[in-house]
Amino acid sequence: MLNKNEVYIADFTGYTSEGLAVAHIEGQAVFVPNALKGEQAQVKILRVTPTIAYGKVETLLKSSPNRTDPGCAVYGKCGGCAFRHMDYAEELRAKSERVRDALTRIGGWDPGEVKIHGAAQPDGYRNKALYPVAEVDGQPDAGFFRQRSHDLIPITRCRLQSEQADTIRGAVIQWMRECHVPAYDDHGGGCVRHIFVRSGFQTGEILVCIVVNGKSVPASDRLTAYLRAAVPEITGVVLCFNSRMGNAIMGDKFKTIYGSDTIDDVLCGLRFRLSPRSFYQVNRDQAETLYGLAIDAADLHGTETVLDLYCGTGTITLAMASRAKTVVGVELIASAIADAKENARENGIDNASFFCADASAAAQKFRADGSRPDVVTVDPPRKGLAPEVVDAIAAMQPARVVYVSCDPATLARDVKRFTALGYAPQSAEAVDLFPRCAHVETVVQLIKTAAGD
Ligand code: SAH
Repeated sequence: MLNKNEVYIADFTGYTSEGLAVAHIEGQAVFVPNALKGEQAQVKILRVTPTIAYGKVETLLKSSPNRTDPGCAVYGKCGGCAFRHMDYAEELRAKSERVRDALTRIGGWDPGEVKIHGAAQPDGYRNKALYPVAEVDGQPDAGFFRQRSHDLIPITRCRLQSEQADTIRGAVIQWMRECHVPAYDDHGGGCVRHIFVRSGFQTGEILVCIVVNGKSVPASDRLTAYLRAAVPEITGVVLCFNSRMGNAIMGDKFKTIYGSDTIDDVLCGLRFRLSPRSFYQVNRDQAETLYGLAIDAADLHGTETVLDLYCGTGTITLAMASRAKTVVGVELIASAIADAKENARENGIDNASFFCADASAAAQKFRADGSRPDVVTVDPPRKGLAPEVVDAIAAMQPARVVYVSCDPATLARDVKRFTALGYAPQSAEAVDLFPRCAHVETVVQLIKTAAGD
């Protein structure tokens, strides 16, 4: 057992799923932030559990050539980025190895070296910015919450956001200070809670949504004037009223105070209309790469029936529609299904239908009804697929299953389940949708083997 507060020499051999460096000291795994594979350091042990210890670098003894300056004043504090202390090539290697490692260890399938599609722009890629607002040192400010807390860290420049989003943040704070508009105080008092900016990077449209406590804001005409002066490209300003205590960000009521309450963006050649509440991938360019891989893996020839479970606003479903006979999307959130139907109409797609249902219930119902989709695509949240969803999909005997995953560990678990039901994984490719952050997306194609007939 390692001793807390004692200093040991650590040789780092890899990374955790959160981007911490891993070393084994006296047979125990130690997780350390801000270190790289191949580095050696004196590490002070901060916390010891029966299985893992956590430490911090005291002195770096051997530095990696991939080490970089994070270039951010709040790196390691705000909890947004995990990989800013290394170059992008090393980050991509870490993510690719994580996917292969999970599929091999948990999934029982070694896909070989996993190709990872890195982003052309690892900075400034987020088309959605959400800044919490609070009083800091007696005046309103906005930034991000310190990891696992509600302490606001004011930020003037976040490298993941567009410069316009950060400029909008600054304009709102200026308006609040000059017009004496108070920040929300977490106890039901005050006014401004969040600044939300959504940009259509393809269309250039920008929607600003200010989430406020109460039913109105003072000096809203000046808010619009400040915003438009700061970023003339803004196409809409909306107030969102949320007077509920707690962590829910958006309220149900909206009021447009300038321009339009939606923006459009173009993804996979389709036009999507987005309101403040619509789900939309935050990295448009890389989402297009991801969906492109999913489309390839679906191997469509215009004759297939496709069932897309966890379809959100129908992005994957609609991107596949022109290549299939019919596509069916299923999603739990009613407003997302309404958006998906609207998106189908707007894009003139008439071979897509959408159902608001739990994926598990829908898959079991389709199976009970004797549905035989040729291809099933799934894009579940991090917890992956419930066992009965895997069972129901396999029972419908599609020729191909395309699994789009945002968590390599649950993906690997589900691949193993599919394998036991007569499906063989063919390929795995990763896409970096969230450069500098710990997440990684993967597309796995599974095909029905003869044994599954
Ligand atoms: N494929 C979409 C959305 C993927 S995110 C896209 O790329 O845009 C995962 C989606 O699964 C979310 O929209 C979430 O609302 C939905 N979801 C979560 N649990 C679900 C369930 N049990 N049944 C159906 N959909 C679910």
